[in-house]
Amino acid sequence: MSCPLCASTSIHERHQVKTYTYMTCRACGVSFIAPFPTASQIEAWYSSKDYFALDEGNTGYTDYMALESGLQRTFVRRNRLLGDARFWNGKKLLEIGCAFGFYADALKPIPNLEYTGIDLNGHAIDVLKQKGFRGIHGDINSIPAKPDYDIAAFFDVLEHVPDPSVFLQAIHARLKDDGQLLFTTPSTRSFLAGISGPKWVSYIVPHHILLYEPTGLTRLLKASGFARVRILTDFQWVSLSFLNERVANLVGAFKGLTRHFKAMEDKGKGILVPVTNGQMLVIAGKN
Ligand SMILES: [Zn+2]
Repeated sequence: MSCPLCASTSIHERHQVKTYTYMTCRACGVSFIAPFPTASQIEAWYSSKDYFALDEGNTGYTDYMALESGLQRTFVRRNRLLGDARFWNGKKLLEIGCAFGFYADALKPIPNLEYTGIDLNGHAIDVLKQKGFRGIHGDINSIPAKPDYDIAAFFDVLEHVPDPSVFLQAIHARLKDDGQLLFTTPSTRSFLAGISGPKWVSYIVPHHILLYEPTGLTRLLKASGFARVRILTDFQWVSLSFLNERVANLVGAFKGLTRHFKAMEDKGKGILVPVTNGQMLVIAGKN
């Protein structure tokens, strides 16, 4: 077996998760799932309407829906990293892997922002368009390869991408000279990954195929043409019921509380709390 990113054979077993094994490459730092899926398997996952079904149990997507109430605040913090309201006014933004457009919803208050979302999932794009946003069904190559965008953003996407260098270079080609990248991806070096072991919420099999740590990710971005890479700890604003469910999954003793918090939220008395989600928040410049 060799590393799908750098082809090194210097790899070691990291964690066993269900019937899969996460391996870590000593050369480039990436962790990858074994067995590694084929391109046609991956294509089938994301074009299927089932990927967005709510009954899938422990998929990243179910979690995404549960987080919806806190998403606006989460995205506002992320956006602020690139600039203030004046910076955002009039920008042209491309979101890759936009799903149902939660980020687009959060961007709505920004004046003159031109949003385009792309996704491999046709059903998600239909929903996005019904909400009045510009959407394209396809991958990054469905967008003309010319420097057209001020901002490229993608959240919870890179860990699903089998050929990240190709993906990042394609985005690089579509950014203007002063264009910027904004994204999140889980960090295997995060505190949460450390304390959670094989139960880490980002070990989502079989969909999370490549997981990064800051040093290797910085190297990958620079090799793909990007500069001025900054990696920060991401925070998400989540409801107490959501947070408690996560804690209960780890330690088991708190299960009853989730229902209590849920009842409060149903009465409109919920509160949002910022939690570290074990993700890196990354910004980088085209040049
Ligand atoms: Zn490697």
